[in-house]
Amino acid sequence: MSTDYNLVWFRQDLRIADNKALYEASLKQKPIICLYIHDLDSYGNWPIGGASKWWLHQALLDLDQSLSQFGNKLIIRNGNSLNIIEEICANYKVENIFYNKRFEPHLLQIDNLVTSKLKAKGHKVHIYNSLLLYPLESIFNKESSPYKTFTSFWKFVNTNFTVSKCLPKPKSIPLGLDQIPSCRLESLMLESRIISALEIQNIFKVSERSAVEQLYEFSQIKLVNYQSARDIPGLDGGSKLSPYLHFGQISPNLIFLHIQEIIEKYSDQKILAQNAEPFIRELGWREFAYYTMLNFPHTINSPLRTEFNNFPWQDNHNFLLAWQQGLTGYPIVDAGMRQLCHTGFMHNRVRMIVASFLCKDLFINWLTGAKWFFDTLVDADLASNTLGWQWSAGCGVDAQPYFRIFNPILQSKKFDGHGLYIKKWVPELANLPVNFIHEPWLDESLKLNYPKPIVNHELMRAKALSYWQDLRK
Ligand SMILES: Cc1cc2nc3c(=O)[nH]c(=O)nc-3n(C[C@H](O)[C@H](O)[C@H](O)COP(=O)(O)OP(=O)(O)OC[C@H]3O[C@@H](n4cnc5c(N)ncnc54)[C@H](O)[C@@H]3O)c2cc1C
Repeated sequence: MSTDYNLVWFRQDLRIADNKALYEASLKQKPIICLYIHDLDSYGNWPIGGASKWWLHQALLDLDQSLSQFGNKLIIRNGNSLNIIEEICANYKVENIFYNKRFEPHLLQIDNLVTSKLKAKGHKVHIYNSLLLYPLESIFNKESSPYKTFTSFWKFVNTNFTVSKCLPKPKSIPLGLDQIPSCRLESLMLESRIISALEIQNIFKVSERSAVEQLYEFSQIKLVNYQSARDIPGLDGGSKLSPYLHFGQISPNLIFLHIQEIIEKYSDQKILAQNAEPFIRELGWREFAYYTMLNFPHTINSPLRTEFNNFPWQDNHNFLLAWQQGLTGYPIVDAGMRQLCHTGFMHNRVRMIVASFLCKDLFINWLTGAKWFFDTLVDADLASNTLGWQWSAGCGVDAQPYFRIFNPILQSKKFDGHGLYIKKWVPELANLPVNFIHEPWLDESLKLNYPKPIVNHELMRAKALSYWQDLRK
């Protein structure tokens, strides 16, 4: 085959640095077609959400700008992945195709199909892992089964693997002479006016460069207090790197190795190492989420623990609406849901509280909540979202036991004691004294433009426990 081009198929790796597929392609010293395909049919029953679309638009724009610094550009196409790749490979005499793995079951199917068709036509397909720290396909316990608890999984990877060094940026990403047809980014209609009007762009700058700047800022300012601050929604102690990680604008290896470097550099400051460890563990949870999705792909749509198929979930539209709009009457729940709607982000502790509330106080199926999150989060990620929801509902791997039911009032008092987070997101309560902010209904003299609780937590708790007991019979 006389070849003119190599092709890099960008997907969840919208970056130049430490991008294995791009780097390996650059070593071949041939013109490279940098391709992104917007394939709506590839998403299965998890269509890309509004907030993710907005992020994707900015990320593609940024990638194109970065490629232009190498004299190259991003070719954008809209349609069926296989057809588009076959057409480009045939028209431009492509010999080598490079891509980084994805792990969602429906996307894996497409990738396997594309790979086998291309190979059958004589193309060489080079596949890498640039999304995760570890080769998850090769991790099993002594019985050759997948791990089902995080602790054992994490112990195994830490004992058996090291995180590989980051690759340098490619020296060149040469463009061929031909003009390859590309859609205008705007034609994908990823940007909706509703999302653009929200506060998301004040919080996140969507670029590869901003991802790295955010990591550096986090490691210099917040890391030292991470362990205690990460649980306090009013303090915003997390790195907020999750959307960048999801879209591959930063590599997990870069984060991991940067944090390791800091620990080594400041080895006299034990406090840094103490705080870095739980942060690295969170990256481990992300790995575990992907590991679970890889080994139990059905869990994206149904509970891992099959007895939960019989749980008497309720279809209460009014309850669901109140939850989505942040009008449940439970301030911490409402603050979280409103943070989500305004910013496309929600604090991790509050994600757990609102998820528990939906499943265990309103008895609405975890999948309904997971779909809402998937549509509204800028970091919507099928693996982490599924793990988070099944953990909260108690029906997944390593899930919290059925009898642990988050009490939204106690959680609120414990993690938002002064009500800073509530005051920020539920302005109707901004002037309440601290002793009423978690349970405003206790002061009947207050004339508030804020709903009374839609359910009684104690009653719902008792009901939930009896449902769970029935499942165990
Ligand atoms: C119900 C529920 C739904 C969730 N849905 C998502 C989702 O769609 N996408 C998503 O990225 N995370 C999800 N999470 C996990 C977690 O809430 C977010 O990753 C975290 O809040 C992101 O903030 P951060 O970047 O500041 O995290 P940090 O505390 O700075 O952690 C660093 C990184 O570790 C990873 N991480 C942290 N916590 C978790 C976790 N519990 N599970 C998996 N990875 C984790 C993230 O990639 C994160 O960026 C969900 C959690 C729950 C309880």
